[in-house]
Amino acid sequence: MELEGQIAIVTGGSRGIGRAIALALGRAGATVVVNYARNEAAAQAVVDELGGKGKAVQADIGTAEGCEALLAAADELGGLDVLVNNAGITADNLVVRMTDDEWQRVMDTNAGGTFRMCRGAMNRMMRKRKGSIINIVSVAGMRGNPGQANYSASKAAVIGLTRTLAKEMGKRNIRVNAVAPGFVQTDMIAGVSDTVIAEAKKVIPMRRLAQPEDIAPVVLFLASPGSAYVTGQVIAVDGGMSV
Ligand code: NAP
Repeated sequence: MELEGQIAIVTGGSRGIGRAIALALGRAGATVVVNYARNEAAAQAVVDELGGKGKAVQADIGTAEGCEALLAAADELGGLDVLVNNAGITADNLVVRMTDDEWQRVMDTNAGGTFRMCRGAMNRMMRKRKGSIINIVSVAGMRGNPGQANYSASKAAVIGLTRTLAKEMGKRNIRVNAVAPGFVQTDMIAGVSDTVIAEAKKVIPMRRLAQPEDIAPVVLFLASPGSAYVTGQVIAVDGGMSV
């Protein structure tokens, strides 16, 4: 699980799951580019918690310029070894009421952003002849979820991207995997009603929601040499919810 001397980017590393991942990678020795969209103070707090070993970088991964800026920040630190595509958004609605904008915004950020970051990482990792990419998807991308057609489709797209890229890049020693959380206690689910949460707990064999700290060690494992022969996998970290 050692990442000493390695440089990592965590998109959306300022809060929630991304924050826990950034801290786990940093504590394992990596220098971490902590990306955020709006909340600079939160991103800087993560860097501070890592003793300043990293950099908070504002960038909207839903845009080409944002992705370029983020990759350039890793270049300045000396290259890119680990990329965690974690930033994601929701804009829930039933399909009959979903607007084009709600569909497109979620696809551009979750799927488009992950695609552009992966593409940008390729040349950089090929130069180093190694690399690990971990895409944060969702159980919703494997099973669908009412009210989340855009979100589920965006995560399913990333699962397809993950498997394809693993096949394209295996011979170059670049591994690409995905982690699929179920329900995780973060700001993203702050608007979900108590009734829905109570119903969700009933179908989770472990009978509790995840904390971000339940997800981060699995990402650290996939980033580290301990998973040197693991690629193209989607690992559900969901308390058994998808079984
Ligand atoms: P969160 O608490 O809402 O945090 C989102 C993070 O992404 C923040 O750091 C935010 O930055 C950043 N972000 C949002 N839009 C961005 C953009 N366009 N460009 C760059 N950064 C952006 O989310 P979370 O619950 O930790 O979710 C993290 C990932 O896990 C997402 O991909 C989500 O789909 C997935 N996931 C979550 C759950 C869950 O139950 N929470 C379940 C399954 C999968 P700011 O702080 O600056 O806004």
